[in-house]
Amino acid sequence: MRLLIAEDDADLRQVLTELLAQSGYEVDGRGNGREALEALLATPYDLGIIDLGLPGVSGLEIVRALRARGSTVPILIVTARDSLNDRVGGLDAGADDYIVKPFDLPELRARVRALLRRQHAMAGSELRVGPLTLRPGEPRITLGDATIDLPAGEFALLEALAMRAGHVVSRAHIASRLTRSGDPPSDTAIEICVHRLRRRLEPHGLKVRTLRGFGYLLETAADA
Ligand code: CA
Repeated sequence: MRLLIAEDDADLRQVLTELLAQSGYEVDGRGNGREALEALLATPYDLGIIDLGLPGVSGLEIVRALRARGSTVPILIVTARDSLNDRVGGLDAGADDYIVKPFDLPELRARVRALLRRQHAMAGSELRVGPLTLRPGEPRITLGDATIDLPAGEFALLEALAMRAGHVVSRAHIASRLTRSGDPPSDTAIEICVHRLRRRLEPHGLKVRTLRGFGYLLETAADA
């Protein structure tokens, strides 16, 4: 397992690097946002731990740039204590989790383990939501008895929703998943995609609910 830590505080970076190396991870550190982004794009890391306040390119910009280029590397963002906007912004940009400074080292270790476990479980295994079976990264899905090859946009949307079935997925997160070659989709494009997916899913008792101002949620008829 190979991790990248982007943290401009050299002492903290060293402490984190040593701690995670002791846990058996291979750890690289970067103190500059631009270098961190380049490293994350060039090397297949299993996880990035990204401080939001970085010189060069900010942590938020790193996450956006990664997702815009289709990178699915799990990202744990590190934020200062009372910056709720930063946390929400980080998750909306496509980060997977956040941890607030100052944090306990055992908590960091636990978050890292959880994210790696989730990524590992998703890499090869199937997601099941009611009659739907989906493998992350593979647009061929099973719905009831039917096997369907979904168009890229519908698949990206369904994948994002299925990974968090029963929980709301923000519109911004969906937009980041539907972004192709750097251009985010329009609101209309997202709505069309949702509409098409609903038409496929509803006969099978799966619903894509709209939560106005928040996003969308995938649920089975049994949840509704
Ligand atoms: Ca910093």
